[in-house]
Amino acid sequence: MSVGPRVVVIGGGVIGAATTYWLARRGRRVTLLERGRLSGGASGECGGFLFLQSKAPGPLLELARESLELYRRELPEAIRRACRFRPSGGLVVATEPTTEALLERRAAALEAAGIPLQRWRGSDLPSWLSTRVRLATHCPLEATVMPAAVAPTLAAAAAEAGADIREYTPARALEQRGGRVRAVRTDSERLEADWVVLAAGAWTPPSSSACWAPRPSPGAPRLSPAGGNCCSPLRGRPSPRSPCWTGVIWL
Ligand SMILES: Cc1cc2nc3c(=O)[nH]c(=O)nc-3n(C[C@H](O)[C@H](O)[C@H](O)COP(=O)(O)OP(=O)(O)OC[C@H]3O[C@@H](n4cnc5c(N)ncnc54)[C@H](O)[C@@H]3O)c2cc1C
Repeated sequence: MSVGPRVVVIGGGVIGAATTYWLARRGRRVTLLERGRLSGGASGECGGFLFLQSKAPGPLLELARESLELYRRELPEAIRRACRFRPSGGLVVATEPTTEALLERRAAALEAAGIPLQRWRGSDLPSWLSTRVRLATHCPLEATVMPAAVAPTLAAAAAEAGADIREYTPARALEQRGGRVRAVRTDSERLEADWVVLAAGAWTPPSSSACWAPRPSPGAPRLSPAGGNCCSPLRGRPSPRSPCWTGVIWL
């Protein structure tokens, strides 16, 4: 039976679903509100890379490392499988002297922060990489997931652990009293909350705002997230074994 403070999580992307999952696993009373379908925002459209090499040493790198640890060690195998977690390792390649120098510097900084890397050059390069590649750095810790699967999988597991998951239920307003948010209003209900987690991604309102901004201001550019697929660019050559970044494109 769920006990303790009542938590309302707003947003059913990977952040909201993961927060709900871990709270429910600890027996907390948690309700997740998603205005559309789970994974309907950036989380359903992203590349699905669990990458370390795209981060500079610092808090983001530590969060990414922790996230990989959670996937590897804390999530039950059934959830990992449903998220299509694939511990493929990841690759960054440089084909120009300038990017090679940048990649070398980034690799040294990551190694100093404790990230294991292999450097591949010349005859070390796997046959599925172009011979134009001057340097490739491979991190065996990196992995991929199927982005659209992660939030629904975590939310389903949270529901099994007692969480209340509500799709197509937008949060409309945050009610504040005594300097704290005390309740969340939806179209049909007022949900009392001891804690509210704002996980609405790009739609999260400024912290001082008690109301939800209904839509972007007129004239604001529309952003279209892009999905990615793994493909083999050269006919007759073996497919890449790891996702691969060049700094300009990723495969
Ligand atoms: C093209 C692209 C590629 C990317 N590639 C990667 C990658 O390879 N690896 C990586 O780690 N990251 C990648 N990212 C970044 C990653 O997608 C985001 O950091 C992550 O998905 C953010 O998750 P979120 O839960 O914060 O937001 P979102 O997934 O956007 O979720 C926010 C949710 O809140 C809901 N919401 C909004 N308003 C309300 C409301 N009033 N009430 C209820 N619900 C509401 C929305 O409907 C949405 O579902 C990429 C992003 C893009 C755009």
